[in-house]
Amino acid sequence: MLRSVARVLVGLCLLAPAPALADQAYIHAGALLDRPGQAPRGASTLVVADGKIVQVAEGHLPAPAGARLIDLSTQFVLPGLIDSHVHIFSDDDKVASRLEAMTRDAEDRFVIGLDNARRTLAAGFTTIRDLGSDPPAITALRDGVEKGLVEGPTIVNAGRMISISGGHGDGANGLARDYAALEREHAVNTCDGPEDCRRAVRIQVSQGAQVIKFAATGGVLSNVAGGLGRQMFDDEMKAIVETAHAFGRKATAHAHGKDGIMAALRAGVDSVEHATFTDPESLALFRQTGAYLVPTMIAPEAAVQQARAGERPPAVLAKAEEAARIAFAEHIDQFAAPGVKIAFGTDTGVSAHGDNATEFKMMVDAGMTPARAIRTATVDAADLLGLSSSLGTLEPGKSADIIAVAQSPLEDITELERVRFVMRRGVVHKLDGARQPWPAD
Ligand SMILES: [Zn+2]
Repeated sequence: MLRSVARVLVGLCLLAPAPALADQAYIHAGALLDRPGQAPRGASTLVVADGKIVQVAEGHLPAPAGARLIDLSTQFVLPGLIDSHVHIFSDDDKVASRLEAMTRDAEDRFVIGLDNARRTLAAGFTTIRDLGSDPPAITALRDGVEKGLVEGPTIVNAGRMISISGGHGDGANGLARDYAALEREHAVNTCDGPEDCRRAVRIQVSQGAQVIKFAATGGVLSNVAGGLGRQMFDDEMKAIVETAHAFGRKATAHAHGKDGIMAALRAGVDSVEHATFTDPESLALFRQTGAYLVPTMIAPEAAVQQARAGERPPAVLAKAEEAARIAFAEHIDQFAAPGVKIAFGTDTGVSAHGDNATEFKMMVDAGMTPARAIRTATVDAADLLGLSSSLGTLEPGKSADIIAVAQSPLEDITELERVRFVMRRGVVHKLDGARQPWPAD
């Protein structure tokens, strides 16, 4: 019986038509880190078809007639990078950004976002999680990338960050009364009390949010001098997390102060952004809950420089300096703490889009091995985003999101700041350090 089944299968294989070779690519890798966290392989071949990886083989397999050969035989190949914390529509022009509500239309911001998306992809980030953008804009950009209409990374999006009135995400903070009244009339992301916070989550979901972000504590860049401690109450955080989970969404908390971090973890968040002030007690709670910590180390550094240069509102400088001063030392402890899950995230939009990979050097300087740093931006970030079945490693069946650098980033992590090759879903966007014509035909 088994033998006859086998014979039928062999017969079927012989009779099966040849695969569509036009879509097929053979990538010759000099070295291949297919599973970050494990040792890299030597010379290897990745076979890609229909946007997915179909085979990973030792050595350099010859490409059959009709298949595209991509020669990365002198390069180091690894999975496309994932940034778990980006604001794709925020630009680097900080003076303008404070006034942009008055001077820019949504269309102007959207064009900026299109350019940011292209720059992000060219830097080797094939997936981002956007944690705070105008819902119609981010869902349009997300869907446009998904359909292949615009060039950019895969986007997993929150909508607006949910915040208490006067909190880090209240857009009316510090505005003249007429503008504040306008903002209050239209804002749907501020909430006070658990019932109201349930409503705020449901509205973000109804507007297309795939993940829910809320501000558990004050923030560095909001124009309000409220410090970096906890501002949201337990019942509000619990209401937000439970409502997000009821919709199958993960919830992530913006939190600097330890009291806010602890409250968010107790409320059941899936991750904490920044987590600036931690100690052994809060790190133990991270371990216990299994929540991810997303460090965003380049953000406070960039914010201090901008505030000193007068490019940020006056209330920002003291908070930025406080956060930056302590962030580096705290992250040394966080990275050394066994069992604390870390996912790569930069808060890019505070710093420049396309410079996301500069975060890696800060992580390594703070004591993380290059191997683990790469893992946080691949295997671990894919897990945080709930996308491990398609992203994070290079294995048959997974998305062909592939990048390459000239030298091993395990030896010099800054290699990731100089990505030479970018493929997303089987489409080449960068080759030999040069952007490729897009769309390809
Ligand atoms: Zn952010």
